[in-house]
Order: sequence, then C-alpha cells, then structure tokens
Amino acid sequence: MSGRTPARACPERTCVGCRERAAKSDLLRIVAVEGACVPDHRGTLPGRGAYLHPASVCLGLAVRRRAFPRAFKVPGPLETAELAELFDQQNQ
Ligand SMILES: [Zn+2]
Repeated sequence: MSGRTPARACPERTCVGCRERAAKSDLLRIVAVEGACVPDHRGTLPGRGAYLHPASVCLGLAVRRRAFPRAFKVPGPLETAELAELFDQQNQ
C-alpha cells in the first residue's frame, strides 16, 4: 500500500541530563553563548542546541556528565548558573 507516512507531528529530542526521550515541546533548548549555557525559550537562537528537561535534577546530571561541552563541541566547562537560577525559581 502507498500513502502511509509516519506521523511527524511530535518531534522528539533526548534530554542531555537524564538521557530520556521526550517531546521537543517538553524540553528546553539550551545554547552556548560566550562560555555560558543560556535558555533559548523561543528556540530561535543560532548555533548548536542541547535539549534539557527544565528541572534542577536534569541540569545536575548534565553538569556531572559534562554533557554541555560535549553537546556544543567546545573544549572547556560552561557556566550554568543562569540555568540553575531559572530552574530554582520554577521549583518554588
Ligand atoms: Zn531530563
């Protein structure tokens, strides 16, 4: 039979923290700007993106496994204070 195309309405991405797949809309896109990880709320910032659940636990996992430098293909550690602050606020 022809005409059967897979549904592509719900793109999935892998969280760089817990490594679980989730709908792109459930994850926050992160980009590296001048050595810091910053949230890309609108998904419009240029450059390589990493996807993360907007949760402190996933951020912690990502930092521990150095997922951000790997995702962005940069050699050094990246600042994540802005993300930590953002997720802390959401948890309160
Ligand atoms: Zn996660």
